[in-house]
Amino acid sequence: MEQCQVCSKDGQDRRTLSVTCLYELSEVSDKLVRGEDGYYRLRICKSCRADFMGMLGSWIQGEKLIHSDDDEEACIPVRKLGATVMMTHSQYEAYIKEVT
Ligand SMILES: [Zn+2]
Repeated sequence: MEQCQVCSKDGQDRRTLSVTCLYELSEVSDKLVRGEDGYYRLRICKSCRADFMGMLGSWIQGEKLIHSDDDEEACIPVRKLGATVMMTHSQYEAYIKEVT
């Protein structure tokens, strides 16, 4: 039995997810620890792998996690996952609740 490093479920069928992007990914989660070769690796279950692939597919297709509201100006710069994202006041308030 091996524990999934994302959802913590025990199981026997784990996969290794390896990722690198020339950025300190430990900012995303302390579960991401860089190996000597520069790759971040996680042992994950099939469900977490599917979640990752779905998220990756959404990202590649241009779906954004935060959308601007038409009636509010996105004027607050927020550093998020290594990028500066402009948020409206309501988005910023929701974001602060999410991260604190
Ligand atoms: Zn999992």
